[in-house]
Amino acid sequence: MAIIPITIYGDKILREKTKKVKQVDDEVIQNIRDMFETMRAAHGIGLAANQVGLNKSIFVIDLTPVEGYEESSPLVMINPVITAESDDSVIYEEGCLSLPNLRADVERAEAIEIKYLDTDEKEQIIEADDWMARVILHEYDHLIGKMIPDRVAQDIKKRLKGELTDIMNRNMDVDYPITD
Ligand code: ZN
Repeated sequence: MAIIPITIYGDKILREKTKKVKQVDDEVIQNIRDMFETMRAAHGIGLAANQVGLNKSIFVIDLTPVEGYEESSPLVMINPVITAESDDSVIYEEGCLSLPNLRADVERAEAIEIKYLDTDEKEQIIEADDWMARVILHEYDHLIGKMIPDRVAQDIKKRLKGELTDIMNRNMDVDYPITD
């Protein structure tokens, strides 16, 4: 197992659409283990493969630190596709391990349906709402090259500009390994 430096806003790989996984082989299983270890070491609740420098359509989620989700099972989603989104949306403050210390209000669908492959290459389809839906949509965004600043209102984006420049220049405090 290994803790991998997390890619940071401005790193090119975070803007690329990730490639579909063709086969869940030993390498992919090792990638997933490393992703969980890296995420937990950074106290994150979700992590996408391109956040550890891998151009693969995979994310991991562990919501157990979140109130009300203590009993939830960690999730691995490979080649996920959002198949439905509710018309109702909600605005909540979000953060991201690739945007250290930044917080911003993001509007997202309240409930979703998502299809993906599990680690046995079996197709799964689940419905999710509330925080699970939010984290899934956030991680799914990473896989298509989108991040929080792409999802906030224009006035918020303007307000974040200075902070985003500082992040790109590594001009911030961060207590987990990040890319140079
Ligand atoms: Zn993120």
